[in-house]
Amino acid sequence: MKSSFNSFQPQIAFQEVPDEVSLAFTISGCPLRCEGCHSQDTWCADNGDDLNLARFAGYLKLYEGMFSCVLFFGGEWNAPHLIELLDYAKKQGLKTCLYSGMEKIPNRISTHLDYLKTGCWQPKLGGLDSKQTNQRFTEVATNQLLNFKFLGANHASF
Ligand code: SF4
Repeated sequence: MKSSFNSFQPQIAFQEVPDEVSLAFTISGCPLRCEGCHSQDTWCADNGDDLNLARFAGYLKLYEGMFSCVLFFGGEWNAPHLIELLDYAKKQGLKTCLYSGMEKIPNRISTHLDYLKTGCWQPKLGGLDSKQTNQRFTEVATNQLLNFKFLGANHASF
């Protein structure tokens, strides 16, 4: 397990979580190495800055009132740290979402999530806006598949 938990500057995202405005954190250190990855700058765990709880809380305060959901692109490879931040976000009354390239993630993470995207990037199948995609976007509490909300939209290929 990698001990670092570095993030790039967070961004407001409008399309990655349907019906929510998200504050999106891209975590570096992705181990999956998908063919055609558009985010190869996330592969090196040293890129970005340490997203400790104090820094994370500071970002939530900085963007307070501008978003309803915290979104992580990756970070499941450091579950204790990710859970700490998800738990903090939930206590602030925010929704939470994880975009993972894995097929499954541990329950100890998903219990802190409202939404979850799973499945690696496969260029021939496309992302969530493709009918052929291997990726799944679900509401965790109900396990309802929400891919239909992405059809016709452009969004990240994580
Ligand atoms: S999971 Fe996403 S960031 Fe990681 S290698 Fe695959 S496409 Fe790239």
